[in-house]
Amino acid sequence: MTKTLGYAAHNATAPLDLFHFERREPGPRDVQIEILYCGVCHSDLHTARDEWHNTLYPVVPGHEIVGRVTQVGAEVHGFKAGDLAGVGCLVDSCGTCPECREGLEQFCPSFTLTYNSPDPSTGKMTYGGYSNRIVVDEGFVLRVSEKLDLAAVAPLLCAGITTYSPLRQWNVGPGQKVGVVGLGGLGHMGVKFAHAFGAEVVLFTTSPGKTADALRLGADEVVISKKPDEMRRHLASFDFILDTVAAPHDLDAYLELLKRDGTLCLVGAPENPHPSPTVFNLIFKRRRLAGSLIGGIRETQEMLDFCAEHDIVSDIELIPIQQVNAAYERMLRSDVKYRFVIDMASLKPEGGGD
Ligand code: NAP
Ligand code: ZN
Repeated sequence: MTKTLGYAAHNATAPLDLFHFERREPGPRDVQIEILYCGVCHSDLHTARDEWHNTLYPVVPGHEIVGRVTQVGAEVHGFKAGDLAGVGCLVDSCGTCPECREGLEQFCPSFTLTYNSPDPSTGKMTYGGYSNRIVVDEGFVLRVSEKLDLAAVAPLLCAGITTYSPLRQWNVGPGQKVGVVGLGGLGHMGVKFAHAFGAEVVLFTTSPGKTADALRLGADEVVISKKPDEMRRHLASFDFILDTVAAPHDLDAYLELLKRDGTLCLVGAPENPHPSPTVFNLIFKRRRLAGSLIGGIRETQEMLDFCAEHDIVSDIELIPIQQVNAAYERMLRSDVKYRFVIDMASLKPEGGGD
């Protein structure tokens, strides 16, 4: 076992703090990675505070991981020591079910998540990327280009793939009018991808102060969702809307903006359910209400390669790990431009939380 240092939540209300634990030694198919950067996803906060009612403590969050390979097992061929590597939300799956065979490991009924998931290799729970190293099966390690800003690549591993995948699934492209709801970690990547795919992009926000940024990031228009007259101007005009909001809200406000056969796709996963939308907004125009979960490993690599080719990274605020609790509070106030990323060089055996 390898001694590992991380930051953990020990219960739903205490701040995250230093935590010593052990990782397995790399097995024949494993890659050991020294973590350089880890993004701060709203899912980390939901989990640290047990908002999804499934957290086993202590929990070490973090699933937007970028680092350098330090060691590989004898059967690993795709990586060697010194390579850059990324790890997202998944570290294992059964490999044999229909979903895994299609490269859709995120729908495998027995996948292993990067944190807060039973770990078949230790019998304990998996611990995530708020830590100095991780050991992952080669099949779940992503290749990362040397040419992009590494800290800004980290959020691609969750926020990136979670927005890229549904936009691809619904064939978003030129000639389409596409909405993105919420300009946070996911939302700002949704705007960048929808713009890169050639769609007309409208950003819906509750924060008027984000308008200029949204236009800079690739939105053609910004709508303040709290203003009914601004919303009404877009009635029945969208092909696709991606909803990234982390809190319950009125879905009818967006369903009625869809054209016939348009789709509202939810990726935000709030603690409490959204109020049920009215069926009439669905049946009269054959509209669809859908959802999407991260993306498979193959598609995550495709997304990373697309980003390297098109110079797409996340807009980040780099923080030392001692500020992660303050970052959670700011994220709750929608006050982040647009993803916090932890600089893991700040993680030291002494010195606790902020
Ligand atoms: P985030 O950075 O906090 O962004 C969420 C955005 O939602 C905020 O910036 C804000 O945008 C908007 N918002 C927040 N509270 C709101 C409210 N009460 N009403 C309306 N809008 C509100 O979070 P994130 O990391 O992007 O994650 C978003 C959600 O997606 C979380 O629930 C997370 O767990 C989930 N998630 C799902 C997947 C998946 O696979 N489906 C993957 C990753 C994360 P404005 O200021 O622009 O209004
Ligand atoms: Zn995430």
